[in-house]
Amino acid sequence: PITIFWHRRDLRTEDNAGLYRALKSGNPILPIFIFDKEILDDLEDKDDARVTFIYEAIEALKDDYRKHHSDLEVFYSKPEQVFNKLIKEHKVAAVYTNHDYEPYAAVRDKAVKELLAKHDIEFKTFKDQVIFERDEVTKDDGKPYTVFTPYKNKWMQKLKPFYLKAYPTGKYFKNLAAFKASAIPTLKEMGFGKSDAKFPDKGYEKFIDDYAEKRDYPAIKGTSHIGLHLRFGTVSIRACATDANHAREKTWLNELIWREFYMMVLHHFPKTMDHAFKPDYDNIKWINNEAHFKAWCEGKTGYPMVDAGMRELNATGYMHNRVRMVVASFLSKHLLIDWRWGERYFAAKLLDYEMASNVGGWQWAAGSGTDAAPYFRIFNPEAQMKKFDPKLEYIKKWVPEYADFSKYPQPIVEHAFARDRCLKAFKAALT
Ligand code: FAD
Repeated sequence: PITIFWHRRDLRTEDNAGLYRALKSGNPILPIFIFDKEILDDLEDKDDARVTFIYEAIEALKDDYRKHHSDLEVFYSKPEQVFNKLIKEHKVAAVYTNHDYEPYAAVRDKAVKELLAKHDIEFKTFKDQVIFERDEVTKDDGKPYTVFTPYKNKWMQKLKPFYLKAYPTGKYFKNLAAFKASAIPTLKEMGFGKSDAKFPDKGYEKFIDDYAEKRDYPAIKGTSHIGLHLRFGTVSIRACATDANHAREKTWLNELIWREFYMMVLHHFPKTMDHAFKPDYDNIKWINNEAHFKAWCEGKTGYPMVDAGMRELNATGYMHNRVRMVVASFLSKHLLIDWRWGERYFAAKLLDYEMASNVGGWQWAAGSGTDAAPYFRIFNPEAQMKKFDPKLEYIKKWVPEYADFSKYPQPIVEHAFARDRCLKAFKAALT
């Protein structure tokens, strides 16, 4: 019999928890990856850069397995169909994989588990993409935290070297099945074009030490851009957290803990993917002006900090964290457009899109989330620009016409008016 190892958001062989357990289980291991039709067919942008990124990561993974006299079988299909096929072709003892916490993944994995159970095949899953998951860091009464700081303190208390140790998969590569896989389905066969986007590299170490001083200024590259690699598991969270924990100050580690906090929240409160964490906020009467939404998406609001951020996002698939906060606040509070519209736009555009962090970030900005900015605290985009881009370097890069006021659009909404309107709308919904 063989054991299947199913890669999903863990596109690497080194320090991979589930792969390590599979390799030690005794049977030859058949590694697989599925381009999930359910997900891909729903993507509107057929040049989606993330598909190209995954594709290239899969090619590299396949090369890696080949170096170890094995291979990677890659499918373009629905997961249940793939497993039905594999069960017919092989004597399968078990399927191993790593946990995935998003609501869609939970449903998918339940269906796969049930299908395998009918054939007496075990479905074994492992924690890999976080240091602590689900119920590992809870309040003393076992309930999930809904506020970050006490969660972080408990997380730090619980951190022992054991949790950061790399899984030495390399020692067991001899247990990989020797076989030759079929060719990877081409991007074209899956209906996609190859994107020419420039992907960030995996180096994050050099950003850790000066992170606290540099992280807030969008004109400088003071943050790691590692989000995309964490999303698809082309780097190991244990490696990142180990380096972050060794640093002289822990600001960068703090950000990695935010990531886990939001994943834990989404796991326990899956409804918050499209409902306010604080339910009263679903009573807000959004204006949802389509023309304003379009101006926001295109970076033509007449607020340079907002416009620069949106143009950076449209051009590169990335936006600096400080600016994400400004544009999200502007959409939900200045324009009174439902935060879910913005969340979906980010989901379509961000290379590092992570549902838990995106929903968390948007609900923070709109005031409806855990640890939210209170609704009466409304970012002033002009003041944010003066503080975080004092020399207008970021603005000049993305909104060059700002230098010539006659060419730059008037603000689509006046700040004091928008502020007042927001306070009234939020107050009406919340009292
Ligand atoms: P660094 O600053 O170098 O941080 C390292 C890593 O820590 C990040 O890659 C990320 O994995 C994690 N991290 C950092 N800040 C946060 C945070 N506030 N919350 C959760 N994790 C964090 N992050 C995403 O990974 N995906 C998203 O879809 C996403 N959407 C966001 C939407 C809004 C409205 C806001 C305000 C924030 C969002 N963030 C999201 C959080 C943050 O902006 C990005 O993680 C960060 O800007 C990515 O840049 P970096 O990789 O250089 O991060």
